[in-house]
Amino acid sequence: MAGQDIFDVAVIGAGPAGLVAGAACAMSGLRTVVIGPPSNPLDRRTSALFGGSIELLKKLDIWARLQAHSEPITGIRIVDGSKHLLRAPEVLFEAREAGFEAFGYNIPNVPLTEALEAVCQGSTTRIPVAVSRIDIGSENVTLTYRDDATITARLVVAADGRRSAARTAAGIDVASWTYPQSAIVATFHHQRDHHGVSTELHRPVGPLTVVPGPGKTSNLVWIEEPEEAKRLLALDDSAFEHELGQALKGLLGSISGLTPRQAFPLSGQSARILAKNRVVVAGEAAHVIPPIGAQGLNLSCRDAATLAEIAGEAKTRGEDIGGDAVLSRYDSARKADIGTRIFAIDLLNRSLLSSHIPGVNLARGLGLFALASSSTLRTQVMREGILPSASRPALMSGGEM
Ligand SMILES: Cc1cc2nc3c(=O)[nH]c(=O)nc-3n(C[C@H](O)[C@H](O)[C@H](O)COP(=O)(O)OP(=O)(O)OC[C@H]3O[C@@H](n4cnc5c(N)ncnc54)[C@H](O)[C@@H]3O)c2cc1C
Repeated sequence: MAGQDIFDVAVIGAGPAGLVAGAACAMSGLRTVVIGPPSNPLDRRTSALFGGSIELLKKLDIWARLQAHSEPITGIRIVDGSKHLLRAPEVLFEAREAGFEAFGYNIPNVPLTEALEAVCQGSTTRIPVAVSRIDIGSENVTLTYRDDATITARLVVAADGRRSAARTAAGIDVASWTYPQSAIVATFHHQRDHHGVSTELHRPVGPLTVVPGPGKTSNLVWIEEPEEAKRLLALDDSAFEHELGQALKGLLGSISGLTPRQAFPLSGQSARILAKNRVVVAGEAAHVIPPIGAQGLNLSCRDAATLAEIAGEAKTRGEDIGGDAVLSRYDSARKADIGTRIFAIDLLNRSLLSSHIPGVNLARGLGLFALASSSTLRTQVMREGILPSASRPALMSGGEM
């Protein structure tokens, strides 16, 4: 199928991160192969993607198709759900205050990966099976699949998830940790309008987030201690809907039409270096972040757009695309953005888990108070959330929403 030609880039893994990396590299004029089984068609999650990521989907020419499935997020509300006497004020970020129509859109994962898969099938060589062996040579990397078929590429993108074999083959170490929490996800109908606002209820066991979906539906990411998550998963639908309504304190009125629930244990992981031995890491092979503040796939989009830009320019200049100079440029371009997001989400999550310690609760409360009272501060935070100053690849810029 692939012959014995040498590809510029081989992307291992066809989850959302691998597909977006493959599509972006092909768009930058790189001869690209994407190898990995198709994404899980039963994934019931949605992804909140912010302005820069939506811009990338527009450049890949799939936004028109995805917009019909997506709901704009025009506001983000943070509510202090602690039981302290001195609770922090509610903070409402409104996109229009920062000059945007929306922060981004809430998109179901299945149509998103289907659209990215269609782009990859049109613009890359797409091999829908797993890689069984990775041999890194001095000038290129050879990947083996289906027993003895091989492909060769100058550069490999390890987008094969948190247990990445490609990352291990390149000798890239990770720091890994777990949290005493699980996230329950589901979609539900509600009586009241969500007005396009995503609400994060910051509780001492972790945030409970409801993200707006089409009509009067929302997507739930409910973080709890594992034992409590197990109890909630075992409830029948109407008992769960009742408990969800209570946890939301009537915010969306009565709850109905719950879809099957899925649970995800929370963990974190960070690659110590982002590129080595002709391999760059992207998506969850590079960074695993708890589902708080919708960071994971947005970071993966920035990995993809940055890599496509750096490797595309290297090809134009006649450089070795998998050479040390290119790898080092990718590592430098991505490490601040990834490092600060991992740090910020970890800090927020741990500050909630430690909110029984008065100083910790006070510090978080003061932060929320400052945000509630300062429009300038809110605007800065909003702009940084939509497209961080540490990472502004060309494929994600322009066309403000
Ligand atoms: C509950 C929850 C909610 C979330 N919500 C959001 C959100 O709102 N916004 C956001 O930005 N992020 C969100 N995220 C994060 C986001 O879902 C992840 O960042 C993203 O799915 C990671 O994609 P990935 O492609 O890196 O990994 P994966 O989806 O794990 O894909 C890895 C792929 O590699 C393949 N693979 C593995 N081994 C091989 C091999 N040997 N050969 C070939 N292929 C291989 C696998 O088959 C798989 O398809 C959320 C995460 C969770 C858990």
